Order: sequence, then C-alpha cells, then structure tokens
Amino acid sequence: MKIVMLGAPGAGKGTQALNIAKEFGIPHISTGDIFRANIKNQTELGMKAKSYMDKGALVPDDITIGMLLDRIAEKDCENGFVLDGFPRTIPQAESLKAALTLQNTAIDHAVDIEVPDEVITTRMGGRRSCPKCGGTYHVVFNAPKKEGICDNCGSELTQRADDKPETVLERLKTYHEQTQPLIDFYNKEGVLDTVDGTQKPDEVLKCILGALK
Ligand code: ADP
Ligand code: ADP
Ligand code: ZN
Repeated sequence: MKIVMLGAPGAGKGTQALNIAKEFGIPHISTGDIFRANIKNQTELGMKAKSYMDKGALVPDDITIGMLLDRIAEKDCENGFVLDGFPRTIPQAESLKAALTLQNTAIDHAVDIEVPDEVITTRMGGRRSCPKCGGTYHVVFNAPKKEGICDNCGSELTQRADDKPETVLERLKTYHEQTQPLIDFYNKEGVLDTVDGTQKPDEVLKCILGALK
C-alpha cells in the first residue's frame, strides 16, 4: 500500500500516518522529521533546510525531491509506505509519480484530512513532539500518559520552534498557495479520500481505515 497524507500543517497527518503505518506494517516517512534530524546533526542538508523552515516557507524542490526519492528506494519501502508532508508542491507530486511509474506502480490512496484554519491555529500551541520516535501529542486533545514524556519510547517531549503563532500563520499561507492544489491533482488521479479532521483522533482514524479498505 502506497499512501500520501494531505492536509494543512496541524491537520493531524503525523498522528494518523503513525497509526496507518502500524496498521499496515509499512514505514512512516515524514520529510519534516528527516529535515529536523538533519538540523539536529548539523548536516549540510540540515543547514540549508533550516533557513526555510524557520520562516514557514518550503524547502526548495531540488533539495527535497532527491532526498525523498532516495528514501523510498530503500528496502523497507518494498511493500509500500505512508508519506507525511510530501508531496507539498505540484513538481514534487509529478516527480513522485514519474519515479513510481518507472517501477510500474503508483500511489494507491491520497488521504486529505480537512481542518479549517481557525481550528489549526488553536491546535498548534499545544503540540508536543518526540524527537526520538516521531510521536505527536497535544497537551489537551491527545495528552501523553505521563506529562512531557513519550508513551512510546519514554523520551522527553519537545515543542517545535516553528509552532509559534507567527510562523504557523506563514505556514498556512504557504499551504494554501503551494500545497492545496495537490487535492485536485490526486482527485484527477482517482485516488483521493477526504476525511473530516475536526473529529476526535480515533474517529478520524476509523474514517481513514474505512477508506483504505
Ligand atoms: P507539519 O507537520 O506541521 O505539516 P512538517 O513537519 O511536515 O510540518 O514540516 C515542517 C517544515 O519542513 C515545513 O514547514 C517545511 O519548511 C519543511 N518541509 C517538510 N516537508 C517538505 C516538503 N515536502 N517540501 C518542502 N518543504 C518541506
Ligand atoms: P500535522 O502532521 O498535520 O502537522 P499533527 O499530527 O502533528 O499534524 O497534529 C497537530 C497537533 O494536533 C498535535 O498536537 C496533535 O496531537 C493534535 N491533533 C491531531 N489530531 C487531532 C484531532 N483529531 N483532534 C485534536 N487534536 C489533534
Ligand atoms: Zn518517542
């Protein structure tokens, strides 16, 4: 199963991608997580990506596309993957399609999680993330069992630098300009599944699994 997650920043892509990955036994690939790991390790790629991420802009396609195509060429992606945060531009979607077509395959489902902008802005302030395993929590809506600690791996949760309100507004603008057109792209491909992302996380998951089966 090859799945793409669509939706605004904070729509719940990461939360649900992790659930889908578990359900189908496929890797969860988040381009944001890959960039953050590179920033932490101070790699050249990380240094390049950071200046864009701090502004709420997209990292340029020439950096991002190669990185993602290398990742899905790895052995663990043989039986599929769930992409979280890629593609985010039409050229990214076209490159992914071309690479998969070469292997006689294609994206099976594009899951669009719909959440209005007003809901996003209230969600982001409470987001907490696990820097080790990629787990995502919310202080109110999806609290970890022990405050500040990842349920999954016991690491200390952190708050992302780009979740401050000014940057969230910038990221929403970027989303509407550059990423929203992908909904139409995948609709034309005949693989779009739309779910209401304002429901509780377990209800959103139920809708997604219903669409995937
Ligand atoms: P969110 O989960 O809130 O949508 P991500 O972790 O996916 O955020 O992405 C964080 C930042 O990393 C983005 O704002 C952008 O700067 C960069 N980024 C992640 N994926 C991509 C991509 N496919 N293309 C360009 N930039 C990306
Ligand atoms: P994205 O990857 O799309 O940026 P996340 O999965 O990181 O989104 O979710 C953003 C924030 O909203 C996190 O704090 C997460 O715990 C919370 N969240 C996710 N799904 C829901 C939901 N259905 N209702 C309320 N809060 C949610
Ligand atoms: Zn963790």
